[in-house]
Amino acid sequence: MRPTGSLHLGHLVGALGNWVPLQEQYDCFYFVADWHALTSDYANTSQLTAYAYENVADWIGAGLDPEKSTLFVQSLVPEHAELYLLLSMVVPVPWLERVPTYKDQQENLKDRDLSTIGFLGYPLLQTADVAIYDARFVPVGEDQVAHLELAREVVRRFNNVFPAREDVLVEPQPLLTTFGRLPGLDGDKKMSKSLGNTIHLSDTPDEVKRKVMRMYTDPKRVRADVPGTVEGNPVFVYHDAFNPNLPEVDDLKARYRSGKVGDVEVKSKLAHALTARLEPIRERREAVLGQRQRLKEILFEGSARARAVASDTLARVRDAMKITYR
Ligand code: AMP
Repeated sequence: MRPTGSLHLGHLVGALGNWVPLQEQYDCFYFVADWHALTSDYANTSQLTAYAYENVADWIGAGLDPEKSTLFVQSLVPEHAELYLLLSMVVPVPWLERVPTYKDQQENLKDRDLSTIGFLGYPLLQTADVAIYDARFVPVGEDQVAHLELAREVVRRFNNVFPAREDVLVEPQPLLTTFGRLPGLDGDKKMSKSLGNTIHLSDTPDEVKRKVMRMYTDPKRVRADVPGTVEGNPVFVYHDAFNPNLPEVDDLKARYRSGKVGDVEVKSKLAHALTARLEPIRERREAVLGQRQRLKEILFEGSARARAVASDTLARVRDAMKITYR
């Protein structure tokens, strides 16, 4: 995850909610992708390390456990950069130019110059990030599937150009997140920092309530006795995602459809469910941020652990490329 801002409910359902249970089943590596933050935000780095610490506090708040998973910082494992450089020798530039997000993001982020080598190369850096741990699976949303396809192509190319007794690099597979995209408070199809339509994991109960009460809902429903639409209505998308009280949600939907409930009741119940979900996360993240030295140790220890694995992989890569000096 890139340290470009505070984490919000979209990150909770689209990433963290998936990462946490994987810890019980796999040897997981989760990292602060600080070099990836530079690929688009290179001119604005003043908050980068602060966001890094804050994001990791959010991860731990949401249930990631540094005893179970390796939590680390990309730039503290410089081996990622060496593998990226070595892979770049065998990857044709058009493979990167045809990654769908390349042109899309240049169109969307017109306020900055993204004609850099760093931006073109970021999917290849992702390939290195994954391949350096012999990762078999990467938990991703639909938006990242094309990048993983590229990673597999690159790994195959490398293994072909530098054959060894056993393939040197492992082809990663996507572990698709079941949850799609969480819409924004404003009804936009994506909750996103850049759209300002977020509820942060750090928001207090008062902030949550204030934001929920102003949420976009069915615009055709001008009064409480007018039947409303539930499908695609962000208030109900959130109820489905965050309210574990299913009979309550079913009852609200039925009364909404028949014009027998006011927005205030629907939204108050949502604010209540969200607060119940976010409070334990917020308390844990505050506790973690209060022990800043311990948080730093977690990241440095995790990075050292990651570095040991990454160094082994690179030794194999250098051997296969016959650039080991003995
Ligand atoms: P970003 O901070 O936008 O780069 O997002 C990092 C990751 O968080 C994405 O790849 C998604 O997996 C997840 N994510 C961010 N926003 C949302 C959202 N609104 N709905 C679902 N998942 C999201």
